[in-house]
This record gives sequence, C-alpha cells and structure tokens, in this order.
Amino acid sequence: MPVLEIKNLHVSVETENGSKEILRGVDLTIRSGETHAIMGPNGSGKSTLAYSIAGHPKYAVTAGEILLDSENVLEMSPDERARAGLFLAMQYPVEIPGISVSNFLRTAKTAIDGEAPALRPWIKEVREKMANLRMDSTFAERNVNEGFSGGEKKRHEILQLELLKPKFAVLDETDSGLDVDALKIVSEGVNRAQDENNLGILLITHYTRILKYIKPDFVHVFVAGKIAEEGGPELAERLEAEGYDRYLS
Ligand code: ADP
Ligand code: MG
Repeated sequence: MPVLEIKNLHVSVETENGSKEILRGVDLTIRSGETHAIMGPNGSGKSTLAYSIAGHPKYAVTAGEILLDSENVLEMSPDERARAGLFLAMQYPVEIPGISVSNFLRTAKTAIDGEAPALRPWIKEVREKMANLRMDSTFAERNVNEGFSGGEKKRHEILQLELLKPKFAVLDETDSGLDVDALKIVSEGVNRAQDENNLGILLITHYTRILKYIKPDFVHVFVAGKIAEEGGPELAERLEAEGYDRYLS
C-alpha cells in the first residue's frame, strides 16, 4: 500500500538577511486512504511544508527525508514528483494567461500518464467532473485562473485532483475564501477522489469548518515549523474551542 514518509525535515529559505530556517524537524507518515489535517497559526510553515513536498526550488531541504514508497522524493524534479503520484492544490493558484483550462488539463494528464488520454472518454470525464463541481462548461475555454474568483480557482484545483488521480494530495488551505456552498462542493470533490482512488490526503487548514465535510483520521498541530501535538478528530474540536494560544507561549 502506498505510503508517504516525511522524516526529520528541515527546510530553509534565502532572505535578504541570509538563510532562514522555517521547517525544524517535521515527522509525518501518510498511508493511502488516510486523511491527515495539519492545523496551525499563520506563519507556522504550513505552506512551506506543502511546497517542499512538491519541490518548489525556493525551499532548500537542509536535513531529513521525504520518501514515497521508499523512493527518495527529494532527488526528483517537481514533474517527476507529480508523475510519481504527488499532487499539490495551492493556497494561491497562479494565473496562466494564454493557456485554456481544457488545454492545460489535457497536457497535464498526458504528462502524468506518459500518453494522451483517448479523446472522447476524456472529454466526457472532464464534462462530468466539471458538472459535479458546479463549474460551467464555458470554463474549459477560459485561460487558467485568469479572472477566476477565489472559489472558482479552488474548484479548478479540485478538478485537477479528480482528473489526475494522484496517490497523495496536499491541499493547502483549499477552504480559505470559500462560502458554505462552495466549501461543501469542493469537499465532496475531495471525498470522491479519496473514495475512487484511495487517495491519501494532507489537508492544511487554519480553521476547523472544513473538517465537518472532510473527516480527518489524524490531526497534527503545526507551530513554529514543527508538529507540536498530534491526535484524532477530537484535537480539532479542542483547537476550535481554545485556539492556538496554548502553543504560542
Ligand atoms: P503558513 O502557510 O503556515 O502561514 P508559510 O509556510 O507561508 O506559513 O511561512 C512560514 C514563515 O516562513 C513565514 O514567517 C514566512 O514569512 C516565511 N517565508 C516563507 N516563504 C518565504 C520566502 N520565500 N522568503 C522569506 N520568508 C519566507
Ligand atoms: Mg500558508
């Protein structure tokens, strides 16, 4: 069964005042089908963890390991990581002027599978999955994320997740900026991806409200670049009531 292991991960970024350590020894193991919520205050390093898993060149791993089924992820380029089955839904999805959504999705699918999907079933699947996410079919011809609302960008991230069928998905604040209806639609998409492909999920969030729709098996409290406490869903309820103050003193 697929497993993603993060061991003693230390990550730094270059700043004007030299190198700054942001992740300070993260240990986390995610198995297929599991949902792990990472919750923590702003600036604790949650997005840095997401980018480090995806292979963003700005983040330098200074110690530790990331293993996907015992393969060394840190030696892989970002596109090799995607082909190996890792997926990142970004906190702030980027606009790609001049590239239509349909072209982008088909190109991504072809790159990941190593061959182009058969056209008719592909078009059918894209249409179905867009309809499930309540995305109007005209979105297919628009440029990626250009002029999309916050909620539309997040739906487009989940559309990619459902079409690309990774083994593990890191969802970085997929809930932020969504109203209740959009939150429900997006969460249903994540749950479908998990049911259909036994997806392992790393759900990064600041708030507990998405956990009503996406049930975590494990909750990790992330503070100052590492995991400060771990538990089950009850830990999220406690955070909802008490906030993060207890960890920040
Ligand atoms: P979170 O997602 O938990 O809010 P981030 O991972 O975005 O936190 O950021 C953690 C800390 O690292 C913050 O203090 C942030 O300012 C800093 N940081 C992140 N990326 C960079 C960067 N490229 N250059 C300088 N500082 C950065
Ligand atoms: Mg963040």
